Amino acid sequence: GATSSEHDLLDLDDELSVEARTTRDAVCAYATTELGPRIADWYERGTLPRDVAKELGALGLFGMQLNGYGCPGLSADAYGVTCRELEAVDSGLRSLVSVQGCLAMFAIHRYGSEDQRRAWLPAMATGEALGCFGLTEPEAGSDPGSMRTFARRDGADWVLSGTKTWINNGAIADVAVIWARADDGILGFLVPTDAPGFTAREITRKLSLRASNTATIVLDDVRVPSPALLPGARGLKCVLSCLNEARFGIVWGVVGAARSCYTSALDYVGSREQFGRPLASYQLSQRKLADMAIAVTHAGMTALRLTALKQAGRLTPVRISLGKLANARSAIEVARIARGMLGANGVTLDYPVMRHMANLEAVLTVEGTEEVHTLTIGHAVTGLSAFR
Ligand code: FAD
Repeated sequence: GATSSEHDLLDLDDELSVEARTTRDAVCAYATTELGPRIADWYERGTLPRDVAKELGALGLFGMQLNGYGCPGLSADAYGVTCRELEAVDSGLRSLVSVQGCLAMFAIHRYGSEDQRRAWLPAMATGEALGCFGLTEPEAGSDPGSMRTFARRDGADWVLSGTKTWINNGAIADVAVIWARADDGILGFLVPTDAPGFTAREITRKLSLRASNTATIVLDDVRVPSPALLPGARGLKCVLSCLNEARFGIVWGVVGAARSCYTSALDYVGSREQFGRPLASYQLSQRKLADMAIAVTHAGMTALRLTALKQAGRLTPVRISLGKLANARSAIEVARIARGMLGANGVTLDYPVMRHMANLEAVLTVEGTEEVHTLTIGHAVTGLSAFR
């Protein structure tokens, strides 16, 4: 995806900090030379080479918003713009960074013991070690409070049993953050993925986010010692705090996917001629381009505003819901318009639009579905909960 300011009609990047611009330029350079040319093949094969994680780590993109333990402690806009530029290539790349940095590393950083932080965060920051975040279960998706994975005390150990599914990085991770129900509420554990009784099986038939690993994890009486418990994590509130970090990345990320679709369509109709004229010269095409440009710009403005609120410590869950829902929905609309504008070519992997469109279907579902965020906003504005 192009990044030049000609596609940033309100010059929104003018609002970025110096740190965020430097980060943007470094991520763009890497994305353009290393990721862009290879992504269609990875997507087609349904894989993402492990080396990519090391390269993203070397660039300092894992846990970039965290402080200490090998993490650079960058600003929220630097993190946001990283998500945008990675997702302009593919949502699977942004997902890798979100799961590693915002879910797994954030959970360890915020709720872990000093020993856990020292043991995992530096290696995760470089991409040497990968983490995953096991919350969803076959019977517990939008309602994680109904989870059945159980943690039982046995002397000085904990014994975990249950099934987690749709876990990104699940089959390639070295450590899994596993959320489980104990006698006194929901707890989080750091489970090494080579622990006896831990198995992960890749979900292979996805039609979305194909350039990312997703797995079902079975915990068959996995025994971990007491220090595997995240001492600070108690209750669903802690789980949600991690999800909110990742949702913030999606708010920014999908702007990149939408921009990539928009610029692909713009390039395409500029050179493709039918009825003796470039498609770009037809009023219907221009209407679509204008609508896309507005949608990308509005989504970018929402991302910037959420960033300002985050930096001021005022980014409430309902504000994140608004941003995630609005931006994911408008990104997929842009992708669908762009897909049509490319005609038959639009359904191939030779152009990014249908890949983005398919990815955005999963992005609408993960980290809270369209409906869940709609009901969160509905609850906030009416004072009435429609969830149950
Ligand atoms: P369900 O909750 O069963 O929902 C099905 C439909 O019903 C949806 O449209 C939903 O909005 C709707 N619905 C549910 N409740 C209500 C209601 N009260 N009112 C109206 N409509 C409702 N999870 C993890 O823990 N870790 C991961 O790393 C992870 N990665 C993922 C990667 C991919 C590619 C995918 C597809 C999913 C991933 N997930 C992960 C799981 C994801 O978070 C869940 O899919 C999501 O929370 C929705 O749960 P569900 O799929 O069980 O759908």
